[in-house]
Amino acid sequence: MPSYCSYCGTKLREDGKFCEGCGNPVLSGKDMAKEIESFLRNKLTEEIEQNVRNEIEPKIKKEIEEKIREEDNLRFEYEVEKAIEERISKTKKWSLKNISNMIKNNNIAQYTLVLLGVLIALNVIFFII
Ligand SMILES: [Zn+2]
Repeated sequence: MPSYCSYCGTKLREDGKFCEGCGNPVLSGKDMAKEIESFLRNKLTEEIEQNVRNEIEPKIKKEIEEKIREEDNLRFEYEVEKAIEERISKTKKWSLKNISNMIKNNNIAQYTLVLLGVLIALNVIFFII
C-alpha cells in the first residue's frame, strides 16, 4: 500500500526516511499518532487557558473585588468605632477632671469655660456620629 507525505502529499518511497517532495522526515503510524496526541494535548491546554481567561476571569475578578470590599468595609467600621470610643473616653476624662477641679476651686469663671468646653466637645462627637 503506497503512503503519502503527511506534510505535502508527495508519494513516499517504501524505504525512504525523508520525503522527496518537502524534505520532512517520514513518520511511522505510531510516530504520527504520538504527534497528533501531543498536538491535541497542547491545543487542549491552550483552549483551557483561553476559556478560563475569557469566561471565568471576569467572574473571579468580581468575587475577589467583593471579598476585598467586604474586608475593607469591616476594617473601616472597626476603625471608625475605635476612633469614636477613644474620643468619648478622652472627652469624659477631660470633663470629669475639670469638673472636679471646678468643685475644688469653686471658680465660677472656670465653671463657665468648662461648661462651654463640654458643649463644644459633645457637638463634635455628635457631628462625627
Ligand atoms: Zn513531503
